[in-house]
Amino acid sequence: MGDPRGFIRHGREMPQRRPVPVRLRDWKEVYEPFSNEALQKQASRCMDCGIPFCNNGCPLGNLIPDWNDLVYKNNWREAIDALHATNNFPEFTGRLCPAPCEAACVLGIHEDPVTIKQVEVEIVERAWNEGWIKPVLAHKRTGKSVAVIGSGPAGLAAAQQLSRSGHDVTVFEKSDRIGGLLRYGIPEFKMEKQYIDRRIKQMEAEGTKFVTNVNVGTDISYQEIQSDYDAVILAIGSTNWRDLPIPGRDLNGIYQAMEFLEPANRVQEGDYEDHPFSALGKDVIIIGGGDTGADCLGTVHRHGAASVKQFEIMPKPPEGRDQSTPWPTWPLMMRTSSAHEEGGERIYSINTTQFLGENGAVTGLETIQVKRENIDGRLEFVEIPDTTEIHKANLVCLAMGFVGPDSSSLVTELQVELDTRGNIARDANWMTNIDGLFVAGDAGRGQSLIVWAIAEGRSCASAVDSWLQGVSQLPSPVTPSLQQLR
Ligand SMILES: Cc1cc2nc3c(=O)[nH]c(=O)nc-3n(C[C@H](O)[C@H](O)[C@H](O)COP(=O)(O)OP(=O)(O)OC[C@H]3O[C@@H](n4cnc5c(N)ncnc54)[C@H](O)[C@@H]3O)c2cc1C
Ligand code: SF4
Repeated sequence: MGDPRGFIRHGREMPQRRPVPVRLRDWKEVYEPFSNEALQKQASRCMDCGIPFCNNGCPLGNLIPDWNDLVYKNNWREAIDALHATNNFPEFTGRLCPAPCEAACVLGIHEDPVTIKQVEVEIVERAWNEGWIKPVLAHKRTGKSVAVIGSGPAGLAAAQQLSRSGHDVTVFEKSDRIGGLLRYGIPEFKMEKQYIDRRIKQMEAEGTKFVTNVNVGTDISYQEIQSDYDAVILAIGSTNWRDLPIPGRDLNGIYQAMEFLEPANRVQEGDYEDHPFSALGKDVIIIGGGDTGADCLGTVHRHGAASVKQFEIMPKPPEGRDQSTPWPTWPLMMRTSSAHEEGGERIYSINTTQFLGENGAVTGLETIQVKRENIDGRLEFVEIPDTTEIHKANLVCLAMGFVGPDSSSLVTELQVELDTRGNIARDANWMTNIDGLFVAGDAGRGQSLIVWAIAEGRSCASAVDSWLQGVSQLPSPVTPSLQQLR
């Protein structure tokens, strides 16, 4: 630890966000650059607490105090090595992770926690700029082959680990571009897609092959894949969205979040000139108060929506950490993303009872206020009488979460065992009920986080490597939780 008094000398500081009127005119990331000097002060706040709970808070087990110290001492070259030792893609997590590590930071018990995530992204960007990030080639080839189905962060992490171990790895992706939700879910203003392309080039140079526009289970059967590869990893995500089957659902103008976000990202990729159902001049309601809803919010702001409301059925969370989620757990508390800062109204404890329309198109929503009550030992939402309201809307985005992997073709063809929540069940070695077929990421875990997808991809790769060779040197940061085991 470089500066034992760093946390006393310096408060927490984050990079400024670009002014709202400026950033709404483009799709670039919202943060201003952060100077090295400011970052080193932030790294010096890491206080050698003895038992770094941040390590446990991070599903990857990132070596946070080590790289904070290296950054403070201006030793960036070693810092990127320490970072890459546990994380294949710090440029994704450093931008997009909600940072459970910071919630577990010991300094956070009585002060603002260390800006861990910012240090992470600055290390990896410095390394790319300096040209330190090169393809990592396997020392020897094993002659074994692995097919990875799905190119989100779980599939990419697994593929990179296995290629570097000497296996011949092919990633099959049903979409036209690689990246999963990183590419077509997460908006450009949260992460510019150039950062995915840069990694894909590195992975290709390491030997990973990418095959796009191939929907396994439809364009090619699992049997064909299985006969060509020694092991197969399912990393197909959890994209089966939750719907709202209430009167008026079939009206035009009501879209699932992913139906809205994918074309928005395609406009940025240059596939379309304009969004096919842009929010320009529209009254928008987003149903769902989570991160996906916030991504829709930032997108409709940039389209130029006339008004935006975001509905959340849960009550408004407290401003600070709730006592039900004490340190070092992930806190239940109010969160304000960059999109919230840009405008719109957040309404809590509200349920939509029907969509209203004219000439086949949505014109409004009928809602009622709800409260949570304990009924026979279960917390249920109860309507509050005389609180019905009508809200004007001619564009509605449903952002109410996901309920498991796409069950249209591959999962049905395989007849793979599912767990009680509809995700693909696996054993402690990440294998499904089908011999040689493994599962990683949201497909097995349910819709989660990028950091978990990478951690699962790394761990699954280690299990596949052991299965193919009897032993593996690859790290395995996580194990499937009990409820995901078959
Ligand atoms: C809108 C949105 C925003 C999010 N924002 C964040 C965030 O800011 N931070 C964060 O940590 N997490 C975020 N998440 C969650 C995060 O994106 C996911 O947890 C993560 O991407 C899961 O990775 P994965 O590799 O398991 O699956 P995915 O990223 O879903 O990738 C699965 C891939 O498999 C492909 N596939 C599926 N079936 C087949 C098939 N049969 N054949 C070939 N390919 C197939 C899909 O096309 C897809 O490309 C967000 C999620 C959404 C929906
Ligand atoms: S990956 Fe997420 S949890 Fe881990 S160190 Fe980075 S920001 Fe923290």
